[in-house]
Amino acid sequence: MAEPILSIRGLTRDFGPFRAVDGVTLDIRTGSMTGLIGPNGAGKSTLFNLLTGALAPNAGSVSLKGRDVTGLSPDRLFALGLGRTFQIPRPFARMSVLENVMLAPTGQTGERILGPFLSAGRVRAEEARIRQRAMEVLEFVTLAPLADQPAGKISGGQMKLLELARVLMGDPEVILLDEPAAGVNPSLTRILIDKIEELNRGGKTFVIIEHDMDFVMSHCDPVIALAEGRVLFQGTAAEARANPVLLDAYLGA
Ligand code: ADP
Ligand code: MG
Repeated sequence: MAEPILSIRGLTRDFGPFRAVDGVTLDIRTGSMTGLIGPNGAGKSTLFNLLTGALAPNAGSVSLKGRDVTGLSPDRLFALGLGRTFQIPRPFARMSVLENVMLAPTGQTGERILGPFLSAGRVRAEEARIRQRAMEVLEFVTLAPLADQPAGKISGGQMKLLELARVLMGDPEVILLDEPAAGVNPSLTRILIDKIEELNRGGKTFVIIEHDMDFVMSHCDPVIALAEGRVLFQGTAAEARANPVLLDAYLGA
């Protein structure tokens, strides 16, 4: 079996006396569409924050492609190929959709548009390149017609697509999505799922936190359930459906 793209070992995070993530050990299979479920407060978003370097763990480790990345900053992890979206997108409301995408970091080298040693011509060339890439990404997520709209004016679902576009600017190998379909209308959800599946077929690994069980059960393999900061279950969607504990807790049976 191929090496897991992410290896999580004993990952633990406390907030004061409260243990939000409690010794999580998981391997995320390269190229998988891994679903992460669990009730509110289970520690799903905190786990993402630990994986992306937004929070430091109290204990445990994370390896990305076999390299120990525990405690690295979000910028470093992004540069190493790990991207994420947020549960609640916060674009720069008065900037255009296109500008919001252009501001996302690109490439895996941590490059900056306005390096101090670049000539004005180089800066213009760089900006043109980034603008072109941003437009391509917006085309891909079907937001190109809204490129010049202020980002504060687009719908919640369109903001989720904008979040995906921002992540794609960096061309990450692993993408963590925090509740991508929450509050998104069905037609935009369809587009979002199609785009995620297309990227997954192209080789990108996804870990997706989602409450929509239809989505998780029909698109994710494996399915991992967290409860009270611990891994309660991992297996295929079929195994999840047959699991009495999960059935009770999440599947409304
Ligand atoms: P989920 O995403 O599964 O709903 P979270 O990871 O957001 O859960 O939260 C897990 C638990 O940790 C919750 O009880 C939450 O209140 C707590 N928590 C999360 N972030 C913080 C924080 N920054 N400070 C204190 N408590 C937090
Ligand atoms: Mg959450």
